[in-house]
Amino acid sequence: MSGPEGNAGGRDERDDGNEATETDADHELRVTKIRNGTVIDHVPGGLALTVLGVLGIDGSAGEVVSIGMNVPSDRLDRKDVLKIENRELTRDELDVLSLIAPAATINIVREYDVSGKHRVDRPEQVSGVISCPNPDCITAGNEPVSPTFDVLEEGVRCVYCETILGAEGASLTEHADIG
Ligand SMILES: [Zn+2]
Repeated sequence: MSGPEGNAGGRDERDDGNEATETDADHELRVTKIRNGTVIDHVPGGLALTVLGVLGIDGSAGEVVSIGMNVPSDRLDRKDVLKIENRELTRDELDVLSLIAPAATINIVREYDVSGKHRVDRPEQVSGVISCPNPDCITAGNEPVSPTFDVLEEGVRCVYCETILGAEGASLTEHADIG
């Protein structure tokens, strides 16, 4: 399965060079303010719902979330922007986010001000945030072993059984298991 772009009607590689419009769209989204929370910007277009899924946000707890999808961007071809009110991301969440959206920018907003702005950084290894899908893996048994993955160019590899989970599509995100 090819994941989120399955129904997109073909990718448009054309660059219409409309820089002004792109900058305006970028700007417009940035100035729509939330009081407290996190703005996740520069998520690859179409992955916003995947990011929410990984963060365990489905709206059932009353979270206030605004999403812009496939917004024209000059850094990415198109991007998604998520604004999650009254929520700051944990280290574990940032680690997983770095795997599925390496170009993402995180803005922490407090009392309408951006109090912290940073890029996610890709760790060399992640531990305890993704579960290994291999039922024979030592981490799947009763041993007190935290699932640990080496971060590859694309995806991650279990350090115990070498199972690889891809960065694209569902496999990596399906096994994200944060706190
Ligand atoms: Zn494994």
